Amino acid sequence: MLYLILTGAPGAGKGTQSVLLAAHYGLRHMSTGDLFRAHIEDKSPLGREARKYVDAGFLVPDSLVMRMVEATFKRPSHNTKGFLFDGFPRTIPQAEALDKVIAQHDGRKAHTLALHLAVPEKDLWRRILMRGQASGRADDQDKDKIRTRIEVYTRDTRPILDYYRKHHRLEEIQGVGEVHDIFLALQRVMDDFLERK
Ligand code: ADP
Repeated sequence: MLYLILTGAPGAGKGTQSVLLAAHYGLRHMSTGDLFRAHIEDKSPLGREARKYVDAGFLVPDSLVMRMVEATFKRPSHNTKGFLFDGFPRTIPQAEALDKVIAQHDGRKAHTLALHLAVPEKDLWRRILMRGQASGRADDQDKDKIRTRIEVYTRDTRPILDYYRKHHRLEEIQGVGEVHDIFLALQRVMDDFLERK
């Protein structure tokens, strides 16, 4: 099975490209951000707990994230060639925990690839503010929260790039330009990986 990790700063375009990649390669798409928003909407116990972090632009604690991710893994997955993680892992402990879950789930048959969508900070701001106007997402509208999210990304999430470089494989794709062109660049990297694995 393939375990694809799409990583990048807030606003890098992970959500948009994940939908295209999951459909094209037959992968099960898992966005921890979408899952948290659904729990928050439902006012589930997990949603009530996660809300204070998400709304403030902080990361949800690793233990809560892993609880949710493991529950998703337990759901039967028919006809899937693998998983696409979007916005997860976001910390080194999450990356380590994911490797453990994959090892339990899939043992030696697992192939892990991380794709980094690289986008300059000025483009991130522009995209997040535009998305906030369209969606009404609270964490996309407030400049202090956006600043916090970018800082948290730099401090806590960027280090996973080194983790994947060291333990698996990491490829960088420039995430600026037309959605379709970025998708083609991602596809080239994916096809090359799939051919060689
Ligand atoms: P973006 O990629 O634009 O930052 P997401 O929709 O992926 O937005 O996530 C929204 C929020 O959900 C994050 O700011 C964070 O509070 C929470 N979140 C999502 N995934 C994780 C994760 N893996 N670990 C901790 N918090 C997370």
